[in-house]
Amino acid sequence: MTSFKNKHLGAGIAALLVMANITSLPAAAHETKLPLGDGQVSSQPKQDHVYSCKTRFNPNAPGARGSGGWIKGDYWYPELKPKVDGDVVWSNSQIKVQLSGNTRQIRANNLPSHGTGVYPVKRNDDAYRYDRNPNSIRSQSINLELPANPELASRASCVPMGMIGVALTGAAIYNALDARGDDAPAHEIQDECGGHPERRGQYHYHNGSDCMIEQDPGPGKHSGLIGYALDGFGIYGNQDRDGAHLSNADLDACHGHVGAVNWDGQLVTMYHYHLTDEYPYTLGCFAGTPVRGR
Ligand SMILES: [Zn+2]
Ligand SMILES: [Zn+2]
Repeated sequence: MTSFKNKHLGAGIAALLVMANITSLPAAAHETKLPLGDGQVSSQPKQDHVYSCKTRFNPNAPGARGSGGWIKGDYWYPELKPKVDGDVVWSNSQIKVQLSGNTRQIRANNLPSHGTGVYPVKRNDDAYRYDRNPNSIRSQSINLELPANPELASRASCVPMGMIGVALTGAAIYNALDARGDDAPAHEIQDECGGHPERRGQYHYHNGSDCMIEQDPGPGKHSGLIGYALDGFGIYGNQDRDGAHLSNADLDACHGHVGAVNWDGQLVTMYHYHLTDEYPYTLGCFAGTPVRGR
């Protein structure tokens, strides 16, 4: 993953690649193919699954109206999926992370430090055909007191719907599920930064994107911190210290492992979560003891 600062550079390179495609490379060469996570919801910690507090889902809950060519059989193709257009700037985005004793206080207004798509989705947006998200992005009052040095709980616990963590961009991190209990990144349409608002207007991600801020990368090529889970453990990008993209097989059922990370300015060997490219993308469960999100 790259930081938001590199995003426009990345877009430039992407444009060059598109031009190159016209003359030489077949378009399919760049397609990422990911397994669809639908149905991988569990009532206990389970690899490749979301251990969900919510166990009954309404298959007709509001959400995407349909899907297009980006879902084929048991796979989905992120590059083929439309994105909600726009670049709305939230100049009053605020997040403050403060250590005081054993507590890490996070205050944020949930407005992201990066641009977003235009919500509600406009009728003339190519995304409208698939997902008419009628919600507007609204500021929320996030005020969390997390353990500064969290400990593993004796048992993992389920992840609720709604906020399960806060990104350093100021926006909320949700689990992998949409309101129907399906793979949200595969079915719901998000903006270029992978975010969209829910009913109350809370802008949130269900997976990682290049818009996320990565703080203090390393050691080696290990990703930096992208946010905090509600149990206080750090959430990091998708790279291991050798630079390889982590997959579920490298992580436990909650989507974490023990390893060296930069934590509050020190190199510490501790438990931490990782984002992955594949479902369940963020957390599969809480390995620590979560505080209540708001
Ligand atoms: Zn969502
Ligand atoms: Zn790691």
